[in-house]
Amino acid sequence: MFQTTKALVLREVRYKEADRILTVLSECEGKLTVKARGALRKSSRTAAATQQLTYAELTLFGNRGKWTVNEGSVIEGFEGLRGDIEALALGSYFAECLEALSVEEQPDEAMLQLGLNALYALSRQMYDPAKIKAAFELRLMCLAGYAPDLTGCAACGKEPEEPAIDLQNGRVFCRSCPKEGVCAPLDCDALAAMRYIAEAPAKRLFSFSLGGESLQRLSAASEAYLLRQTERRFGTLDYYKQVRIT
Ligand SMILES: [Zn+2]
Repeated sequence: MFQTTKALVLREVRYKEADRILTVLSECEGKLTVKARGALRKSSRTAAATQQLTYAELTLFGNRGKWTVNEGSVIEGFEGLRGDIEALALGSYFAECLEALSVEEQPDEAMLQLGLNALYALSRQMYDPAKIKAAFELRLMCLAGYAPDLTGCAACGKEPEEPAIDLQNGRVFCRSCPKEGVCAPLDCDALAAMRYIAEAPAKRLFSFSLGGESLQRLSAASEAYLLRQTERRFGTLDYYKQVRIT
């Protein structure tokens, strides 16, 4: 059976002499593992389309669970990431997050679109990478079913004055109210940005202003929330922190 689908290549692993095993986020089938035979040969027609962090139209041959790339053409290569080690490292982290939070054979258009928008913004240097990263992380958690409840303080019910987010249960508290679990400090602007990220239309996800300490708080809280909720480490995040110029 042949199937043509648009797909974002999240990960490529070299296999045998010149094959690639890919993890892709496809439009039609969600997360898939596909084999690209001979993709590492110079003469290969699928070499460009099966590179990590490439959005491509792939013609797959096979059936459930066992797919091979028959043909591929690049839709968007995110070229701006290739020569910039920091942007490439962050893009790879986005890919690892998408792999961790997407589901096999379950299409999720919003999640794919989020990945594409974040990589596009990063490769075109449209916003501060810290802002792209925080918005990507928090929005991804919302799409994957881990949306925090940001409506008001979980203890007193009021709008929190010096808010903090409970990383385990995804709730906000006032600094002075009794809280449970590990909390990350926010401030009013960082909380407003979180609310925006959770609700904004996909195309305007990064269109919020936040800087200085508020952006630092948002960044720390978004990352900590994702790590706490997924209960795992991301090798690409550790690598990003090593190469990031601060
Ligand atoms: Zn309170």
